[in-house]
Parts: sequence; structure tokens; C-alpha cells
Amino acid sequence: QDDMAITNNDVRQLDRNYVFHSWSMQGNLNPLVIAGAQGCELWDYEGNSWLDFSSQLVNVNLGYQHPRVLAAMKAQIDELVTIAPATANLTRGEAARRIIELAPAGFSKVFFTNAGADANENAIRMARLYTGRDKVLSAYRSYHGNTGSAIAATGDWRRVPNEFSRGHVHFFNPYLYRSEFSASNEQEECARALAHLRRIIECEGPGAIAAILLESIPGTAGILVPPAGYMQGVRALADEFGIILILDEVMAGFGRTGSWFAFEQDGIVPDLITFAKGVNAGYVPAGGVIISEPIAHYFDDHFFAGGLTYSGHPLAMAAIVATLDAMKEEKVVENAAYIGDNVLRPGLETLAAKHPLIGEVRGRGVFQAMELVTNSQTKTPVGAAEMASIKFALTEAGLLSFVVENRIHVVPPCTISAEQVEKGLAIFDSVLSRFGGLVR
Ligand code: PLP
Repeated sequence: QDDMAITNNDVRQLDRNYVFHSWSMQGNLNPLVIAGAQGCELWDYEGNSWLDFSSQLVNVNLGYQHPRVLAAMKAQIDELVTIAPATANLTRGEAARRIIELAPAGFSKVFFTNAGADANENAIRMARLYTGRDKVLSAYRSYHGNTGSAIAATGDWRRVPNEFSRGHVHFFNPYLYRSEFSASNEQEECARALAHLRRIIECEGPGAIAAILLESIPGTAGILVPPAGYMQGVRALADEFGIILILDEVMAGFGRTGSWFAFEQDGIVPDLITFAKGVNAGYVPAGGVIISEPIAHYFDDHFFAGGLTYSGHPLAMAAIVATLDAMKEEKVVENAAYIGDNVLRPGLETLAAKHPLIGEVRGRGVFQAMELVTNSQTKTPVGAAEMASIKFALTEAGLLSFVVENRIHVVPPCTISAEQVEKGLAIFDSVLSRFGGLVR
């Protein structure tokens, strides 16, 4: 079919007839039709275009259709499009080496997965096999992915080393704006959150806890930048009790916060790092676990009971190599830091000073959020229907936004320019002005 003849409605109808969507009731969906994209802009079949302040699912960190990544993928297709994980493959080795070079000293191997969820699955598996313990502590305010039953359902012998019975325990992570600890400042929030975590560890039995799994900056949960000292405190607790610290960098990693990894800004080093999304700008599904030397070494003579058909798929690996090289040469991480500190964050603060609807602005780099409230004293969240209207109005005005609950996550590609940020901020300004009546 000739592109010119296709309408938005054709594509939407095809989708509604045959595609089953994530996280939705299927009945009343009206998905945005996207025909193409370049850099930080997307368009449909009928001349409408959008500036991207979402990076899709916070993964297109390099922007769309980067020529270098496309060229590397095309070259890989011609060279060797697929090969099993048990083989040695040049592109896979090059991707792993680049990731290890970006990781802190003391990390030595990369296990590749298909995405973020299975990166966390495999990091948890490594921590359990390494420690011989089974419980995993993680935060209530977190998102780590959407898998979990496949190996438990498996009938063959591979199920057996993965049969851990006592599972998962949750704790409250710091979130001063809506403190679970009645804290009134960062220091209190930090100290009380750490005391709470210590009590959870003691009550669950340190000898049963394999891992603490934490997003370096919880993303979907609200871009909850931890208070100064919290991550060091968690690291110290993990050390004290012999618990593996897994940091989930799936959303925060690869430039988003203005550093390669978000935890670098907290001055700590985890034992395992999980990644996906930004590692290849989301061009081909890929994720993985970056493994510190003691754990990697442990598996030199202990069987690793985990694997995936597409672990280290050459096409995904080619996209990783080219993405990381382009990010280095084009100083994309530096751009994320610069734009975050000098354009995006100050711009959002200015909006917050003008619009009482904005209760708080928080984040690092191009990983920012605005929390919308109807009253700054009671912090009453703007309701779901109103947030949907705001999102709709932003889309109508040409801005693709990332709305979660009562928040707008401001997460453009790391390549965004100052001019594009100004354009997006102006759209926020005009749309929020129209919703000022929500404030009570
Ligand atoms: N971890 C974090 C922090 C995420 O934000 C996500 C996805 O949004 C995941 C894990 C799961 O990644 P995937 O959807 O690639 O499985």
C-alpha cells in the first residue's frame, strides 16, 4: 500500500480490530496514530506532529531514527542477523565491553536479557544463587517489570534451582512530599526511612534475605529522588547483613539523569545493576544485568540456572554498540545534564511559581516530574479524569506527555535542545493556565 493513501483512521481501525493493548480495558481505546519520527518529533499520516516529552516509555533517549544506529543495525542484518547465546559473537562482545567500561570499577560481566523485567528476574536469581537466601526486599513505590510465573510453571529440571518459596517483602522508600514517616525535612525522611528498612531486615531475618532491589531513582512511581544519604545508608545496611544490593537502572540509566548511571550521583556502588530501555534507545528490545566481580567469579564454578533464546541477540547488540558510541561522541549525557540543570528544571520551577496547580517539581537531568494538586496545603492530587483532560490538551497542543496518576513526568529524549525545551514549556504554560480552575 502506498503511504500517501493511508489515513490515520485506517491504522487506528486495524489496531482496534486486531491488537490487544497493555495495561488497559480494551473497549474504548483511541490510540494515537504515529506514522514516523525523527529526532525529538513524531508525526501521523495527516500532517499533525508532536514534540516528544515522553521518550515513549522513557526509553528513546537518543531520539528517533538516529542515522548511526540505523546504519549499524542494517550492517548487522547483512552480516549475521541472529545467532544463539551460547556462541561467541563479535557484536555481543563489543556491546558487553562498552557497558563494562561505563560501569564502576569492579564490574566484570554482562548477562543480556530481552528487556527490563527479565533483567530484574535474572539479577534476583543471581543474588539468590550466590547468597543461598531467598527473600527479596523492594519498595512499595517502585516498578520493576511484568513477568514472574514462567519458571515456576516450567515442568523440567530448570524449575528446581529456581524454587524459592518465601518471596518478596516490601518497604517504604523515602518520599518527603507525601512522607510515610511524618518527616518534615530531608534529613528526617532519610533517617526514618533507613530506620524502617533496618527494622524490616531484622524482622524478616537477615539470614533469609538475598537482595534489596531498588530503582536508583524510582521512575514510574514518581521520579522520587532519594534524599542525600539514603542510598549510602541502604548500601551500608546491605553490607552489614550480607545482602546483595541490586540497583534497577532500567529507566534512570544511560544518560537520563545527566550521568551514565543515576547511582553515580549518590556516590555508591551496587553489587548488580539492571538495565534496558536507554542502552540502545529502545530501537531493539534488550536489557541485562551488569555483574560485579565477586558474583561473576562465583559462577565460574557454580551453575547459573538461567537463560533466554535471545540473550545477546546480534541486532539488539549492534543497536547498543552504535547507541553508546553516538552518545559518547555527541555528548548526549552532558546534554541531558546541561539541559536539566539550566533549561528544563529552572523552566519547570518558573511554571510552578506561576501555576498553583503544580505542587512540587522534582528530578535530575531530563528525568523530572510535576506533581499536580488542587490545593498546595492539603496536597490533594488532581483526579484521574482531569489528568486525562490535561494529557489530551497537551497532545492537542502538539506535546507528547507522560502522565502517571496526578503527575506529568517530563522526560524528553536526552538529545533535546534548549529551543525544544522552551517550546514544550510554553505548551505546559498555556495548557495549565486553562486548568487553573481546578485549584481550590
Ligand atoms: N524497571 C524499571 C525501573 C522500569 O521503569 C521498567 C519499565 O518501565 C522495567 C523495569 C521493566 O522493563 P520492561 O518493560 O522492559 O520489561
